[in-house]
Amino acid sequence: MSAKLIKGTEIREQILEEITAEVAEIKEKHGVVPGLVTILVGENPASISYVTLKIKTAHRVGFHEIQDSQPVDLSEEALLGLIDKYNKDDAIHGILVQLPLPKHVDEKKVLNAIDPDKDVDGFHPVNVGRLMIGGDEVKFPPCTPAGIQEMIVRAGVETKGAEVVVVGRSNIVGKPIANMMLQKGVGANSTVTIVHTGTKDLASHCQRADILIVAAGVPGLVKPEWIKPGACVIDVGVNRIGEKISEKTGKKIAILSGDVDFDAAKEIAGWITPVPGGVGPMTITMLMKNTLKSLKFKLGIA
Ligand code: NAD
Repeated sequence: MSAKLIKGTEIREQILEEITAEVAEIKEKHGVVPGLVTILVGENPASISYVTLKIKTAHRVGFHEIQDSQPVDLSEEALLGLIDKYNKDDAIHGILVQLPLPKHVDEKKVLNAIDPDKDVDGFHPVNVGRLMIGGDEVKFPPCTPAGIQEMIVRAGVETKGAEVVVVGRSNIVGKPIANMMLQKGVGANSTVTIVHTGTKDLASHCQRADILIVAAGVPGLVKPEWIKPGACVIDVGVNRIGEKISEKTGKKIAILSGDVDFDAAKEIAGWITPVPGGVGPMTITMLMKNTLKSLKFKLGIA
């Protein structure tokens, strides 16, 4: 194997330790800790496990954390009332509404009701606009793209002047990471191309990428011959391609694969992220970072 592995599991530990230390310092100096509330409507098993992990991580880094679980038939009005309550709560600096919401609730209306200064997911149109403007305007970069950029920086990959090709144009990964990589500043200043289902010749674009960020959700989409030797390959894709029995628990677990042919790509790339254990662990980590930032903005120390 020639490529260096960029492991999200290791970077997560470093960042969570940094956050824990900073939380303790702020608590000592200012007598306050970041507060994060997660609102869960209904009992979708995947949502419960995401929320549990978020709350567990928030607890680990010393945050004040609330898991607000609501019944599946909670009305839209009641949910908006709940958001209003947390918008006004001085002990809460980050509000998360776990998606998907039940069908009778207008998701967009609910997400747009969150105070942009507590929108630590970074999906509110105000924060999307701030990200587009860049520089000091940015408050909360969305968590998965922020995690991708952090991995690239911590791996020591040169981004200034680099050709970055992003595969995928979703609002949660493709568009924001492309936008972040083209801004001036550390971990960016790149020349960016976004390719998608409307692109004529995917291979030719990928082949000139110094940094190839793939977020399509198509297993094995990126072939080894599309990778420039020595490139940094960030595989965001998480695809369930089968099931196996866990050696640890004896229970059935999903076999996951990325969007890149990892075994072949690692012989060509300079850096590569594995799936699982690559980008995946970074999302919740960056959520913690955004929540800490939210408190720091409030205290005027960001
Ligand atoms: P999405 O379905 O919203 O968007 C996928 C994008 O890829 C679309 O813009 C589409 O145009 C493009 N695309 C799809 N097939 C293509 C093809 N054959 N050729 C070119 N472009 C193609 O998906 P998303 O939400 O951006 O997620 C993408 C992948 O990343 C998924 O596998 C998802 O599970 C994973 N993901 C992982 C994390 C994480 O690890 N934390 C977070 C978010 C998403």
